[in-house]
Amino acid sequence: MKGLLLDLDNTLLAPKDEGPLPQEIRRWAEGLKAGGIRLALVTNAKPHRVRRAARELGIPGAGPVGKPLPLGFFWGLRRLGLPKSAVLAVGDQVFTDLLGARLAGLRFALVRPIAEDALAHTRGLRRLESRCRKSQTTIGEKPKGEGTKAE
Ligand SMILES: [Mg+2]
Repeated sequence: MKGLLLDLDNTLLAPKDEGPLPQEIRRWAEGLKAGGIRLALVTNAKPHRVRRAARELGIPGAGPVGKPLPLGFFWGLRRLGLPKSAVLAVGDQVFTDLLGARLAGLRFALVRPIAEDALAHTRGLRRLESRCRKSQTTIGEKPKGEGTKAE
């Protein structure tokens, strides 16, 4: 991997957090950049949140990009200047982040959301996602030391 296309809300920052990005996130990003990994934000977050996070991390950012439409990922690939095969998309939602990344032909890493969502439609999607995550853990090997519960 030479580049990451990162979701913002609930992947790097809690959705209601209007403060600066957590220091651990900034350090993590600095470490990756120092190691030659290129980063960009591709997110459905509000424009002011995207601008602020991109400025704090010193990376390009676009949003809201309307995931699961893949256009934002194509923008991100151009900004990174990397082929799809060298890029990993990262996000916390199955039906926006994962689906959009797949439509763009990218590999994807699903992370646990930082915070519970207050929006009713997101809560509904989370229940469906939870089923997907559970079904993923039942396919193939069970991780060592983990029970049957996925969340
Ligand atoms: Mg998110």
